[in-house]
Amino acid sequence: MLRAMKAITVALFLPLLTLGLAHAYTVKKGDTLYSLARANNLKVEELRRLNNLGTESIRIGQELRLSAREPLPLTVRTPVPPVPLKYPESEAPVKPVSTTQPVSPVKPPAPVKAPVTSNPAQPARPASGGFTLTPPSAEPLPPVAAPPRPSTSNPGTASPVKPSPVKPTLPQPSATAPRPTTKPVPAAAIPVRSGSSFEVGGVSVALPTELSMGDAFIVKLSGKAAAQATVRFPSEIGEDVRQPNEVLTPFGAAGVYVAPGRVVLGKKTPVIVEIRVAQEVVRAIVPLRNQARGAVVALKLAPLVAKKLTDPGKAAEDEMVNQGYFARGAPLWTRPFVAPLDRPPLRGSFGQSRTYVAGGPVAYHYGADYPAALGSPVRAVNDGKVLIAGQFPVRGGLVMIDHGGGVTSLYFHQSKVQVHVGEQVSRGQVIGQVGTTGISEGPHLHLEIRVRGEATQPENWINRLWP
Ligand SMILES: [Zn+2]
Repeated sequence: MLRAMKAITVALFLPLLTLGLAHAYTVKKGDTLYSLARANNLKVEELRRLNNLGTESIRIGQELRLSAREPLPLTVRTPVPPVPLKYPESEAPVKPVSTTQPVSPVKPPAPVKAPVTSNPAQPARPASGGFTLTPPSAEPLPPVAAPPRPSTSNPGTASPVKPSPVKPTLPQPSATAPRPTTKPVPAAAIPVRSGSSFEVGGVSVALPTELSMGDAFIVKLSGKAAAQATVRFPSEIGEDVRQPNEVLTPFGAAGVYVAPGRVVLGKKTPVIVEIRVAQEVVRAIVPLRNQARGAVVALKLAPLVAKKLTDPGKAAEDEMVNQGYFARGAPLWTRPFVAPLDRPPLRGSFGQSRTYVAGGPVAYHYGADYPAALGSPVRAVNDGKVLIAGQFPVRGGLVMIDHGGGVTSLYFHQSKVQVHVGEQVSRGQVIGQVGTTGISEGPHLHLEIRVRGEATQPENWINRLWP
């Protein structure tokens, strides 16, 4: 059964919106950091430093300063409309690091460690730049060799390495550096509450008592001032997650406000939650359950399937999906999530550690795989808006739905896609048919449910309003 399935997941990158730059250069179609650096006699690293870029991806319309005399761009967290921007294969996207929070001093890149294939407990998160393959039987590594980069491992290079979190290369503090809107309180001065329920500024807070990697969870806030509270997860700083430590405004429903959290696959340390209500700030620590990790599952992609990894459309596909992870908005659903198919997924398929080619790097599988007959109807897990719908080289027949609240669901490998971009879909609506398109070696649905771009256990959402 395992051999029959396949899927994949992918990597990231992330754009920061810039506003109001005087004398700045506006990114045009076809521009890359490399081309701009060349044209302006700069190094890519200088360009990144000048603009506080945690990633090498840039967007059409983004404003960049080309010299230190120009003001720094302000960064905002506004979701960016998807504008796929193509970059050369050698410029695989880098997972962005938020620059909207105070950033710790730049650290040198971690030394490359020995290959992790022999250590099932430590699957490498495929490089920030690449993508990760998924399904139960084989998924590949991008065979495209990229030039070595200091701060990120590339799944396509010959020697798998344990990825180190991407650290932003930032300019030294200066008067023009972006500042948080609220006054930072030194971490040591923030009181730490114990237990899973307590009060902050008159707001009652409820947290999970413990968590596991791959969990999605909520911070529940109730009380008059709950709508004014903000929540963030300082433990994400330095982790390989999109938009670490993002300041979240809880969503209200029926008098209860929630802020969704995620525990990235590979995490081993407790989750730290910070809640601010007016001037009062507290932190709480949620322990991580000790989990026995299964053995690494070695998949071997058939050459014809593996070949899709070098498809020239792959970079644009990855970038488009990554853009989708920046969707932020109020939740569009009011009822519990439902299963996409009548049959259950393969047990243990989510979060499985896999290699896709013999001796290749170990990667997590970001979705749950549902084996099913070709043509079986695939249903939307909840209400939402279609961000992506079509056939793509890697994910095959793909639908990506934005449910609001930073939650997206993705459906891979469909033989037919029956919705279109921009369409509002309702829970249980048929969106396509099970297939084996893209990097897949047998009919199945690969389902992902992501929180702000990070994969969470899909089964934990089914039949629940929140995970
Ligand atoms: Zn899969």
